[in-house]
Amino acid sequence: MKIQSLRGMHDLLPDQSTTWQYLEKTVADILTRYSYKEIRFPIVEQTELFKRSVGEATDIVEKEMYTFEDRNGDQLSLRPEGTAGCVRACTQNGLLHNQTQRLWYAGPMFRHERPQKGRQRQFHQIGVEAFGLCGPDIDAELLLLTARLWKALKIDHVVSLQINSLGTSEDRKTYRGELVKYLTQHHQSLDEDSQRRLLTNPMRILDSKNADVQKVLEKAPILSDYIDEESRQHFQQLCSILDAANINYELNPKLVRGLDYYSKTVFEWVTSSLGAQGTICAGGRYDGLVEQLGGKPCPGVGFAMGMERLALLLDELNTVPDSVAQTVDVYIVAVGNTMADAMVLSDTLRSQCPTLRFESHCGGGSFKSQMKKADKSGADIAIILGEEEIANKTGGVKYLRKEHPQETVVQNKLADLLNTFFID
Ligand code: ATP
Ligand code: MG
Repeated sequence: MKIQSLRGMHDLLPDQSTTWQYLEKTVADILTRYSYKEIRFPIVEQTELFKRSVGEATDIVEKEMYTFEDRNGDQLSLRPEGTAGCVRACTQNGLLHNQTQRLWYAGPMFRHERPQKGRQRQFHQIGVEAFGLCGPDIDAELLLLTARLWKALKIDHVVSLQINSLGTSEDRKTYRGELVKYLTQHHQSLDEDSQRRLLTNPMRILDSKNADVQKVLEKAPILSDYIDEESRQHFQQLCSILDAANINYELNPKLVRGLDYYSKTVFEWVTSSLGAQGTICAGGRYDGLVEQLGGKPCPGVGFAMGMERLALLLDELNTVPDSVAQTVDVYIVAVGNTMADAMVLSDTLRSQCPTLRFESHCGGGSFKSQMKKADKSGADIAIILGEEEIANKTGGVKYLRKEHPQETVVQNKLADLLNTFFID
């Protein structure tokens, strides 16, 4: 029997990787323009790190983590998200000492969930975190940055922003008490999941998709009535920056996010174009997290976007430029006894035309079969080298995508011709 990949863990095949490279490059370019720097940290960490940051009573820690004992008997987990590892790396390396940091990271995350469209067990995120800044200006910057990204990816017309404020953890404690009081009175109308959450993580009930539960929630206490003056002002200032910058948003008082570490601002970018898995980017402020993980108190705010969902959206809307899928500009055809000369000429051309992409035909074959491959490669030009061309130090130039007669060009003029054709 052939060995298969694991359920929910997918291969990314070459014809999809161009979309991903385009996506990753677009994100990285925009992040660079906002002066964010990349950080890389391990995929495996001590389980305790995620328990202490994400929270014991969250879906992730309760039932989604890939946790195992290694050969030393240490409890380790594959990272289910990036913020915890990022904070760990920053504190451990002294990056948060009286300084600010604007950081991003990209890579695989692991959660043992039921696989569906846009939901995998190994999935990929690009995450962004800003440390040492406590005002609403940096929250707004993150939202402006993401809004710019959706424009660059041409998906801005199908995504919308939802925001909320969670206040401080004290505010939430008071609110949680009131919510539990209210929901306990309606215990019999709650589904099994919500009844369980009433004991473990009652605010997660606000996220419930169950219609009966939603009905009960209509009259439930609202978090925004419980948040303190400072959080309220922070949120108002954030909203006024967004207004001034013409960023549309919707206030969603039920947006609480699934992780314990958030405080004040939380947000999600959602789309209705992907079915049930509509959140493409989510995040918020986590002012207590650094201290909770043993660092000196340091405010933080960040978000992560789901790359699979973004890639699905780009494919669905067909917004990836055609040029991205094209990977070859020039195909070099070598017929007859010309193998060595063709190889050397190809490489000379690569030196002379450093921005162009060449595919050298390998493996011989007839002129006709090589021209077929040239056409299939997507190249605009084929350079044809037969024994006669090599003897005369020329190459045949055939235009594959436009009406234009084939030309014979001396080899040391080929680079000029290509540079003129592709760059001017
Ligand atoms: P969801 O409610 O969809 O489970 P989440 O709140 O668990 O999302 P976060 O932890 O906020 O997700 O992760 C940020 C983003 O990462 C999500 O908005 C989504 O785009 C993506 N993401 C999360 N889990 C998965 C997964 N299992 N497969 C693919 N993408 C995911
Ligand atoms: Mg989830």
